[in-house]
Amino acid sequence: MSKKPFVDFRDIRSRITMEQVLEHYQLLDTFKRTGHSLSGPCPIHKGTNKTQFRVDTEKNIWNCFSECKHGGNTLDFICRMDNLSIHDAAIKACEWFEIPLDEVKGADTEPEEKTPAPKAAVKSKPAPPPAPDDNKPNPPLKFKLDKLQRDHPYLIQDRRLTQETIIDFGLGYFTGDRGMMVGHVVIPIHNIKGELVAYAGRWPGEPPDADTPKYKIPAGFKKSQEVFNLDRASKETGPLVIVEGFFDVIKLHQHGCRKVVAVMGDSMSTVQEELIRQHTDKSSHIIVMLDENEAGRVGRKDIAGRLSEHCLVKTHVFDKPDAEPEHLTPEEVEQLLGGTA
Ligand SMILES: [Zn+2]
Repeated sequence: MSKKPFVDFRDIRSRITMEQVLEHYQLLDTFKRTGHSLSGPCPIHKGTNKTQFRVDTEKNIWNCFSECKHGGNTLDFICRMDNLSIHDAAIKACEWFEIPLDEVKGADTEPEEKTPAPKAAVKSKPAPPPAPDDNKPNPPLKFKLDKLQRDHPYLIQDRRLTQETIIDFGLGYFTGDRGMMVGHVVIPIHNIKGELVAYAGRWPGEPPDADTPKYKIPAGFKKSQEVFNLDRASKETGPLVIVEGFFDVIKLHQHGCRKVVAVMGDSMSTVQEELIRQHTDKSSHIIVMLDENEAGRVGRKDIAGRLSEHCLVKTHVFDKPDAEPEHLTPEEVEQLLGGTA
């Protein structure tokens, strides 16, 4: 082992994909593909449930929600599959994928190798690999924005929100003169513990030009780690409604549908899936209600598929193209929830 060269794990990781690794183990066929997600039984603990193991083929990370309760990157996967140290997994990966060792010379750079595993550890179960950076939770914010104009016309007239809803969600037009939220309506985002982790900014109305985005999200904030409004929705009864956007949640909430959350986009991350699973059980009902467009239809199918082995899941199909939950009338919302209760 000591004769093996030091290698740069990060460099090796950047050269291989989860799909290649799964293909190497001849596992790729056992997974179902939806968008950037592969799901199937966990090859590490050799489980059978077809939704317990999930791979993000874009980020090249994996997660087992069942026995392993763990996730990681490509090299972590090889470690687990073959009971190897991270160093040996990296060397193996170079062999398998024909990466010349002299191109990836390094100093075994990552912290996991700082304390080499004792020799005996190879036979016993290796220590769980650290989760990739992407899985680190968003830290709670150390500040809170004030100077919020609650009765801004964008909220009252454009979005038709009541003062009660605006206060309830902490919305407001930021009237301060410093920071990235200047000139935006802010939407506080809380983690599952109810701690404030970010503000999303919405340009009030149609942006003036193509360079101004509708939404601003702080650079360091990982929306894949949070499910918007789940901290509050998890305490409510009735079916859990999953929608795309902030204003879908806010509007449905105003119409009396309190158990509503947003994945903040048209797909569900593995962390979001895990959060939703943790706050539902076999007797739960879920309604997946994404926007009625191509991306929404793809996302809807994926989310419903992934959650349906966990509990009862329905998808809501709008009869009009481009319909969004935000535009449902109070009567339609009532009917919808009445029909599933
Ligand atoms: Zn597993």
